[in-house]
Amino acid sequence: MKMTALLSVSGLHLYYRTSRGPVRAVDGVSLELKEGETLAVVGESGSGKSSMAYAIIRVLPRNVQRYCGSVVFDDAGDIVSMDEESVRRKVRWKGISMVFQGAMNSLNPVVKVGEQIMEPLIIHLGYTKEGARGEAARAMVDVGLPDYVMDRYPHELSGGMKQRAVISMALVMKPKLVILDEPTSALDVMTQANIMNLLKRLKRQYGLSYIFITHDLALASELADIVAIMYAGKIVELGSAEDVYLRPAHPYTQKLLRSVPLLREDREPEFIPGAPPDLVDPPPGCRFHPRCPYAKEICRREEPELKDMGGEHMVACHFTGELRGGADGLG
Ligand code: ATP
Ligand code: SF4
Repeated sequence: MKMTALLSVSGLHLYYRTSRGPVRAVDGVSLELKEGETLAVVGESGSGKSSMAYAIIRVLPRNVQRYCGSVVFDDAGDIVSMDEESVRRKVRWKGISMVFQGAMNSLNPVVKVGEQIMEPLIIHLGYTKEGARGEAARAMVDVGLPDYVMDRYPHELSGGMKQRAVISMALVMKPKLVILDEPTSALDVMTQANIMNLLKRLKRQYGLSYIFITHDLALASELADIVAIMYAGKIVELGSAEDVYLRPAHPYTQKLLRSVPLLREDREPEFIPGAPPDLVDPPPGCRFHPRCPYAKEICRREEPELKDMGGEHMVACHFTGELRGGADGLG
């Protein structure tokens, strides 16, 4: 694995304008990803995972209220301050591609699958139809799709095949980084396992980097080198998969780990009490304080910074270190 920094995100913010006020979906996120590494972004629904991905690849909705910080990718420079034309020419799909949540269900129903895979090559790279067909055929082999799929319509494919087609679209322009937003959530368990194996093979084969977005910690553990735990628009814990899984230090991560059912243990999975906050009006201080069993006065007043506990294991909690322990060590 090469260890060059491929992506450096710093102070990234993405707020949406709504009639109730700004939704602070991404509120000061910083992280770094090296070439060939996989970052899993884990958190409950509504924690801002997809918004962070949109901010990185700069696919923004119309109601953006605030988009700032920096996203430096490879040698392309800062995506946040780049003009749209440069993002299109230098970064999006060629450098960073994305498998959007639910993408397999938004394939164009009246266009053959092969043509949909060919399309970005023709539009963005100026391929001829024949050239694009050859490349698309190669990309389909890579994801394990048989030749005949080229001339089929989406409704003629199984869910697993559709998802493979969507992954081949993300790979056809040979990006270095692929963002996968809940890529297996609509699939049955066997198909999910097949897609995870495919992602692992593609990562090995091409030295790809992934940002893998999921609410499922167990699934994340299959691919992740590093894990970011997201809560209410912020990263609350970030570190190697080993540190985050074996030495979780943030109370939220500890609760998340204890909510995962384990086959070979007789303990019952726990539920996290309460609900994630409204991002129009998040709680002051530590955003997790209304749900945290360890909350003290300072937690209601002061926002904890993300601090390095050693070995690049970053945690945002006023009592970092004191609460450190295995997932089963605290109650
Ligand atoms: P999920 O797993 O459910 O997709 P997520 O962690 O990916 O959740 P986001 O989809 O990024 O979270 O949403 C973060 C917050 O931003 C949520 O409160 C969501 O309702 C809100 N949100 C997302 N898009 C918009 C938008 N265009 N306008 C207003 N609010 C939005
Ligand atoms: Fe809990 Fe306080 Fe730590 Fe927040 S800062 S996670 S409320 S102990």
